[in-house]
Amino acid sequence: MKRQNYINWDSYFMGVAKLSSLRSKDPSTQVGACIINQDKRIIGIGYNGLPMGMNDDDFPWEKEGDFVNTKYPYVVHAEANAILNSTQDLKGATIYVTLFPCNECMKLIIQSGIKEIIYESNKDHGKDFNQASLKMMQSAGIKARQIKVDKIILEPVNED
Ligand SMILES: [Zn+2]
Repeated sequence: MKRQNYINWDSYFMGVAKLSSLRSKDPSTQVGACIINQDKRIIGIGYNGLPMGMNDDDFPWEKEGDFVNTKYPYVVHAEANAILNSTQDLKGATIYVTLFPCNECMKLIIQSGIKEIIYESNKDHGKDFNQASLKMMQSAGIKARQIKVDKIILEPVNED
C-alpha cells in the first residue's frame, strides 16, 4: 500500500519557494518564488537579492534613510528573479510565491503570461502598492489563491 502522508502539489511547490527564500541575504524580508508549467514541472526559481555579480557586502540592506542608502533601489524581487531565471516560455504558467506580489512584480507576471498566483503571506494587504497590484491582476484576469504551508525546518547538520 502506498504511503499516505505524502505532501500535495501545493505544499511541494510552496515548499520549494520557501526553501529558496532561505537564500536571501535581506535581514527583514525573505521571499521565494517557484514557477511551474502546465505539466507541473518547475521552470523558474528565485528569491530576493542583488543583481548577479554585485557584492552583497557593498550594498545597504536598510529600510530607512536616503533612497540610495536603502535596499530598495538595488534588490531584485523573488518573482522577477524567477521570471528572469525561467527555462521556458511562461505562457499559462503558475507562480508560487511566499508573499503576494508587489505592483512592479505584478507587471512582470502579467507580461510574462503567467495565469495563476498562489501565495502564502498577504502582509502588505491594503497598502497603496498592494492595491495597485490587485487592480492590475484583476484587470488582466489572473487568478490568485492563498495557501498556508507548515513550517519547513532545514538546519545544517554538523557531522565530524
Ligand atoms: Zn515585487
